[in-house]
Amino acid sequence: MPEDGAKRRRMPPWMRKALPASGDLEAICQLLKDLRLNTVCQSARCPNRGECFAKRTATFMILGDTCTRNCRFCAVKHGKPPVVDTDEPRRVAEAARRLGLKHVVVTSVTRDDLPDGGAGQFAATINALREVIPGVCVEVLTPDFNGKESSLRIVTEAKPDIFNHNIETVPHLYKIVRPQADYNRSLEVLKRIKEINSSIYTKSGLMVGLGESQEDVLKVMIDLREVGCDIITIGQYLRPSPQHLEIKEFATPETFEWYAQKAKELGFLYVASAPYVRSSYHANKFSEKVLTSTRF
Ligand code: SF4
Repeated sequence: MPEDGAKRRRMPPWMRKALPASGDLEAICQLLKDLRLNTVCQSARCPNRGECFAKRTATFMILGDTCTRNCRFCAVKHGKPPVVDTDEPRRVAEAARRLGLKHVVVTSVTRDDLPDGGAGQFAATINALREVIPGVCVEVLTPDFNGKESSLRIVTEAKPDIFNHNIETVPHLYKIVRPQADYNRSLEVLKRIKEINSSIYTKSGLMVGLGESQEDVLKVMIDLREVGCDIITIGQYLRPSPQHLEIKEFATPETFEWYAQKAKELGFLYVASAPYVRSSYHANKFSEKVLTSTRF
């Protein structure tokens, strides 16, 4: 029985995950290396990266691999980030073209050290993707930009198809889980995107298993719908190392099903709720379901 590597906590049977066929795994890793690109898949040690890479998809992480924040669930490196690489947007677009991606997800570490929080690099990457892959669906998964209006406008005016900002957990756990973030600020970010451009789909995600109750999660879903959020992802928190927060609970498949049902009742356009769901896991399913009819 697989165990939670960090504290030898037994993982329940439903967390068993078949090893993916290697597929194009090596080729993808080589491509990313050749183009000097980071992915959140590798930096955050996502449990799905083998599967996604084998399927020739990945979530590009721009603005370096070092974050200015230190969320207690996240495996991404923290510290002093590198200077902004202005050629990076071109290389992301080139990688997406070579991978034949129709749905590209671009995320980043948080760059509280930059005046615009990295918003300019997001806009440049969206524009580079649009130039190189006509009709591409671009999803951005951004930090909160400290709620800065000018940064939100820079990214929104580059017109991503999907603007994703993760709420990550329930409000009373923020101090423990993501102490440098603010629950209401993250809600406000999602609200402002819709106010600036209501044709952009907004998306958010949270992890469960950190000590929240089902009612807490339901309340977060209600708050997200109140700010017009269209898409929600809910997955099981897994501990990247003994230095990270413990897993309090493994949510059952029934609990994920209950969340999915509630999300549909609340009017989310799309919900992905299961143990290994992550923000951009199978992200193309939404665009294939909703956008394809108008685009490809
Ligand atoms: S802000 Fe994002 S990348 Fe930085 S530590 Fe938190 S979750 Fe990780």
